[in-house]
Amino acid sequence: MDTLFTKIINREIPADIVYEDEDVLAFRDIRPQAPVHVLVIPKKPIPTMDAAEPEDALLLGKLMLAAQRVARDSGIAESGYRLINNCNPDSGQEVYHVHIHVLGGEKLGPLNA
Ligand code: C5P
Repeated sequence: MDTLFTKIINREIPADIVYEDEDVLAFRDIRPQAPVHVLVIPKKPIPTMDAAEPEDALLLGKLMLAAQRVARDSGIAESGYRLINNCNPDSGQEVYHVHIHVLGGEKLGPLNA
């Protein structure tokens, strides 16, 4: 089933896109939790990290490297940043299309605050 993120990929709803290639899209979170808060998503609609398959290994690697690039382009690579993936209800996952949160631009608080 399509999520909001498929609509963003297809330009059916707007987003502030900061990076795109043939496999990956990155855009600013509409409810930022830090000065830099970008979501990096695969164009393939994998619902959760738990649903990823061995055949997705290359794509998931590309996702992490796109997150690295977003951090560098945002000027937070040296100062530091956090990558988060929420998986399934206990994590608070809201959108069932795999995404990596890139958070930074300030000293971040404890992980589970
Ligand atoms: O990891 P989780 O599923 O909770 O994160 C979903 C994220 O997607 C939220 O941080 C929310 O603010 C963001 N979002 C967005 N644009 C939308 C809908 C949700 O950036 N149109």
